[in-house]
Amino acid sequence: MARTAVITGSTSGIGLGIARALSATGANVVLNGFGSREEIDAAIAAVAAGGGKVIHNPADMTKPDEIAAMMASAAETFGTVDILVNNAGIQYVEKIEDFPVEKWDQIIAINLSSAFHTIRAALPGMKAKKNGRIINIASAHGLVASPFKSAYVAAKHGIMGLTKTVALEVAEAGVTVNAICPGYVLTPLVERQIPDQAKTRGITEEQVVSDVLLKAQPTKDFVTVEQVAALAVFLASDAAAQITGTHVSIDGGWTAQ
Ligand code: NAD
Repeated sequence: MARTAVITGSTSGIGLGIARALSATGANVVLNGFGSREEIDAAIAAVAAGGGKVIHNPADMTKPDEIAAMMASAAETFGTVDILVNNAGIQYVEKIEDFPVEKWDQIIAINLSSAFHTIRAALPGMKAKKNGRIINIASAHGLVASPFKSAYVAAKHGIMGLTKTVALEVAEAGVTVNAICPGYVLTPLVERQIPDQAKTRGITEEQVVSDVLLKAQPTKDFVTVEQVAALAVFLASDAAAQITGTHVSIDGGWTAQ
């Protein structure tokens, strides 16, 4: 029987890449995230091309009721949720004294609290089947900090703690819980912050790419969406059954420094 994957924030970037890769393994996919009708239809078509059945749920990850309804609808549609990928995330770059309070709240809600809400909804079904995979897309910023990203770094460090705690709680239930910590991946999330970083730091956009983003990565290269997706497929496989409560870095050497 096909496994079912719920991937939050999967209409774009890394989430869409993971959805495509899991669909190619035969999994049913619940896509989630924002976009125009055309963008969402294109995402559904791209994921369905992998072979799995696909639905889109527009739940807003800042709204616990919508998250609960999405998880219930996933189980109703496909009978089970076997793989949960907490990927939805946003960024905001500003020094802490000027960091807007509503941006702090929004980032903590989307990048951290939404995973609490999806996990608590997914676990009863996974425990009943004695099988489940929870993959939290953290970041190199779950391990180290950068200036001007207080909410993001706090949320990503938080999700590392959530990963370890839940892993221990379900260690004997056949459910693994892990984090992936990517370095810079050239997705819309990163493309949008290049002009903001240029403004905050008073440098050109080219300097942001070479002196800020890729400076952090010894390989001097961006990580690709496909590389992160392949890692998620591995963590969701039987071969990864004894990997739990930990993180895998995919950051071009960033956090080795
Ligand atoms: P992206 O902007 O391309 O995609 C973000 C997705 O989240 C989109 O589908 C968007 O619609 C969705 N989303 C945003 N707000 C939402 C909300 N309130 N409710 C539901 N969905 C919402 O970003 P990305 O770069 O693919 O990032 C995905 C994840 O990977 C994030 O958690 C991010 O922190 C993490 N990450 C990204 C990088 C990178 O360099 N791009 C590095 C490390 C970690």
